[in-house]
Amino acid sequence: MKLFPIMGGIHPDYRKELASEKAIVPMPIPATLYLPLQQHMGAPGITTVEPGTEVKKGQVLARGQGLVSAPVHAPTSGRIAAITEMMAPHPSGLPTMTIILDSDGKDEWGDLPAAIADPFAASAQEIRDRVAVSGIVGLGGATFPSAVKLGLGNQHKLEILVLNGAECEPYLCCDDRVMREHADEVVDGARIMAHALGAPQIIIAVEDNKPQAITALTQAASAFTNVTVASVPVQYPMGAERHLTQALTGRETPARKLTADVGVVVHNVATARAVHQAVRFGRPLLSRVVTVSGGAVAEPKNVEVLLGTRVAELLAFCGGLSKDSRRIISGGPMMGQPLPSLDVPVVKGTSGILALTKAETKENATQPCIRCGSCVSYCPCGLVPVEMAAFIRSEKLEEAAKIGVQDCVSCGSCSYICPSHIPLVHYFNYAKGRIAALDRERRKADQTKALVSAHNARLERAAQAKREAAARAKAQSENPDAGRVNA
Ligand code: SF4
Ligand code: SF4
Repeated sequence: MKLFPIMGGIHPDYRKELASEKAIVPMPIPATLYLPLQQHMGAPGITTVEPGTEVKKGQVLARGQGLVSAPVHAPTSGRIAAITEMMAPHPSGLPTMTIILDSDGKDEWGDLPAAIADPFAASAQEIRDRVAVSGIVGLGGATFPSAVKLGLGNQHKLEILVLNGAECEPYLCCDDRVMREHADEVVDGARIMAHALGAPQIIIAVEDNKPQAITALTQAASAFTNVTVASVPVQYPMGAERHLTQALTGRETPARKLTADVGVVVHNVATARAVHQAVRFGRPLLSRVVTVSGGAVAEPKNVEVLLGTRVAELLAFCGGLSKDSRRIISGGPMMGQPLPSLDVPVVKGTSGILALTKAETKENATQPCIRCGSCVSYCPCGLVPVEMAAFIRSEKLEEAAKIGVQDCVSCGSCSYICPSHIPLVHYFNYAKGRIAALDRERRKADQTKALVSAHNARLERAAQAKREAAARAKAQSENPDAGRVNA
């Protein structure tokens, strides 16, 4: 199919070969699982169990709350040991309430919702409800509750569901393995999602460094005329939603808008597989495939891991770490988060655990900017990183906002390419966080002001009514016959 060029981007050292030929292996059930209530974007779940509760595999441990949230399920059977605040690999870096589940080793399923026999005869709402109760979130790392995203067809006229199999981050190959080994499930999930969205066309986009995945998907999709498998060029960050949309359709998503505004919704390939399992078998999201890789991992692997498994145990399953392990990252090296500890659990958004050696980490001392302009040339969003960073360094956040810092997708291309090793993307993440916090404070102050002024207006109306009543009473007492009607 015809493709369109995307702006900027880089070609980092991909190093996917460390794990890409390793088939997915299941990890044995750990003795204890640690399940944070916040594994998704939105409000944390509300617990439905207590310490001491015996639970079955698949049972709801925490239900979602509000419009944007997701439930948490028991990945195996056992007993709730505690519910307590713990460090989790959450982007905030803050401790979060966590359910601790001791496995009983039986792995006994509880009652699951019935399979939806013919998903294409079911209503869109029925599919969304099933996806919501199954706790499915974007497994590409965004962790936005998938049921909410599947509701975009209510507000937008959607033409295309894009299934994102680009997997452009170096090292990661969990999506590649899912596409190769479970292509039928991915295609079925995509068709169910497109039905829920009301999108007539499906494009599954895969970077052309994954030829086996392209072959497997093409075969799985061959019976469906509305499903196309597109091979897209290897170019980081091809997997960013708006860039993939641009590459496949030529449609540019305006700043601060969704791809749905140009008729496209993007979901990850592993999310599609999870939807297939939830709809066809009633299975909630209990595990995910994680790439464990990096020069410091003894045996890089792609592992099907129960959610809540400690990273330390996962690394031990992969032969442990070598002595020259320098940095452990959750996710890819470009956009991932350094882990605060190996005791944090695998959560729904954990696509990879990387243990990198010194040679694999860029730890060069930061030098002054030489105004080379490389960051501008390579920014895929058409921003001017060097100017934004200068404003942020002098705390001129409004100026940085004016030149688009909130449109930065935090891809890290500018930091990667900068010859002075300036950690530009860190500035932008800081600025975006500060601007969002200031916006929240401003909105809160406005709300308080509006409440105070409504309260004062109510008091004034009450005082006015009191004054008028007093005036009427006075007039009555001075002229008792006033207003009397002659009989
Ligand atoms: S991190 Fe932001 S500013 Fe830097 S290249 Fe990516 S989008 Fe552009
Ligand atoms: S790439 Fe680095 S050195 Fe070059 S202009 Fe940008 S910030 Fe300055």
